[in-house]
Amino acid sequence: MAENERGELHPVINSDLCIGCGLCEKKCPELNNDKLIRNPLPDVYCCWLKDSNARKNSTSGGVGYAIACAIIEKGGHVWGAAYSKNLEPQYIEANTLDELSPIQKTKYVQCALNDSFKRIKSELDSGELVLFTGTGCHVKGLKSYLGRPYENLITVDLVCHGVPGQGIFRKYIEFLETRYNDKILSFDFRPKRVSDGQEMAYCSIANFKKIGTTKIEQFENSYFWGFQHNLFLRECCHNCQSNGRERYADITIADFWGLGKLKPFKKWEERTLGISMISLNSEKGKRLFNTLSDKLEYEQRSIEEACCRNESYIQSSPKSPRSNHFFEDYKELTWEQLSIKYFTPSLRERVVFYLHKYTPPIVSHMLKHWRK
Ligand SMILES: Cc1cc2nc3c(=O)[nH]c(=O)nc-3n(C[C@H](O)[C@H](O)[C@H](O)COP(=O)(O)OP(=O)(O)OC[C@H]3O[C@@H](n4cnc5c(N)ncnc54)[C@H](O)[C@@H]3O)c2cc1C
Repeated sequence: MAENERGELHPVINSDLCIGCGLCEKKCPELNNDKLIRNPLPDVYCCWLKDSNARKNSTSGGVGYAIACAIIEKGGHVWGAAYSKNLEPQYIEANTLDELSPIQKTKYVQCALNDSFKRIKSELDSGELVLFTGTGCHVKGLKSYLGRPYENLITVDLVCHGVPGQGIFRKYIEFLETRYNDKILSFDFRPKRVSDGQEMAYCSIANFKKIGTTKIEQFENSYFWGFQHNLFLRECCHNCQSNGRERYADITIADFWGLGKLKPFKKWEERTLGISMISLNSEKGKRLFNTLSDKLEYEQRSIEEACCRNESYIQSSPKSPRSNHFFEDYKELTWEQLSIKYFTPSLRERVVFYLHKYTPPIVSHMLKHWRK
């Protein structure tokens, strides 16, 4: 896999070594879409972890963590996305509860597969239990690579807005490191308050080597802004073949953005602490969820509500009209120059930012409900 001029990882074939067997094309999930089977319409729940500390360390309600714990407790292997030393997300394996923490929290960047599929296959062939959590395209890729169903494999995919390439995130991290004259050890896109676990809107947190944790707000939070405005997602993410109500994975997890939009849900305090959406797509997924019930608070909801305010569940993110221009400038300009040219928030966005910043989350949730 090599990075192209847009900072995205793509496969490159070494023609000196290639024997022309065509196996890569036979296994490519996108070229063999019709050979992979989607599950029927799922049962949908909203849920959150009872353990408030673990919930604080998760992006939404922490259901991904609950699933991972259950697999570890059964003696299985958990595969998920963690930062490498250079802050490049890659799939790693956790075999103990302590090893789970790097996998928690969403990294809004393309995750590298490295040799994960090969290692997962060998674990599966040895009869071991394996959980793979990743983007829908990677779940499809894994299934296609394996070539047959495995009873001892559980797959979880995320509702996915799309991923930017690792090169773009690296350029952003280098910009922050120069600005603060310090090395970043980890980056939390959507932090929660340490004191009470409430979601901190419109800011990220960088953990610097010398300065420690630092809030990255508004102008400096430009990578997340560009991500949300679809400025630099991978080209293929604008034509995603993995989204939809019927999924390839056993379980789908997401934020429950539309909760309460179609049917009342009045637990305000819970909403500000993050609530997960879980859809149980297969019998295997349903059986696993039944074993989690003592760790989670949950309530059945509808698939329509799960898709509400979360278009990425069923459709690809549209490309920003400025995306092509961004990529023309991406190599030439510094991140600061790119920020000035492309990431300047509108007046409305600035007003919303300051309102969010100074309004307690619970009040803003109540206001939204009252307005509706
Ligand atoms: C690129 C991306 C886009 C997303 N877009 C949406 C969206 O539009 N709407 C929505 O509701 N939810 C989206 N999500 C999912 C959401 O951010 C949460 O991950 C999800 O709600 C689960 O939260 P959690 O608290 O249960 O788990 P968390 O503890 O936050 O972890 C979730 C799991 O995500 C996996 N993960 C983290 N980063 C990556 C990555 N880069 N690639 C592959 N796997 C990863 C980890 O392996 C972990 O197991 C997106 C996630 C990613 C990675």
